[in-house]
Amino acid sequence: MFRPVIWAFLFLAIGCSKESASGAAPSAEPAKAGHAAATVKPGSHEDWCEEHQVPESQCTQCNPSLAAAFKATGDWCNEHGLPESQCKKCKPDLKIVRPPKAN
Ligand SMILES: [Zn+2]
Ligand SMILES: [Zn+2]
Repeated sequence: MFRPVIWAFLFLAIGCSKESASGAAPSAEPAKAGHAAATVKPGSHEDWCEEHQVPESQCTQCNPSLAAAFKATGDWCNEHGLPESQCKKCKPDLKIVRPPKAN
């Protein structure tokens, strides 16, 4: 007679534990001042390095490990240690425009 009640209770308990596991608070890292968070979409408005005026996802000065990828494609200025496509010393007219904010 009591069995249906017990099953219902078990079902609820499982449902609750599942919910709390998936709803666990993510360890949110605060973004460094002036630098985009690691989670931003490359090519978005948020993906921007204020300091060097290039997309943060392509900023070899903030993230030197990116340099290898530019060198591999031949897009590298040895003289200034920057991707050629970002080197304003070689290309004074170069303008890298920050992508507009998505609505
Ligand atoms: Zn930078
Ligand atoms: Zn250069």
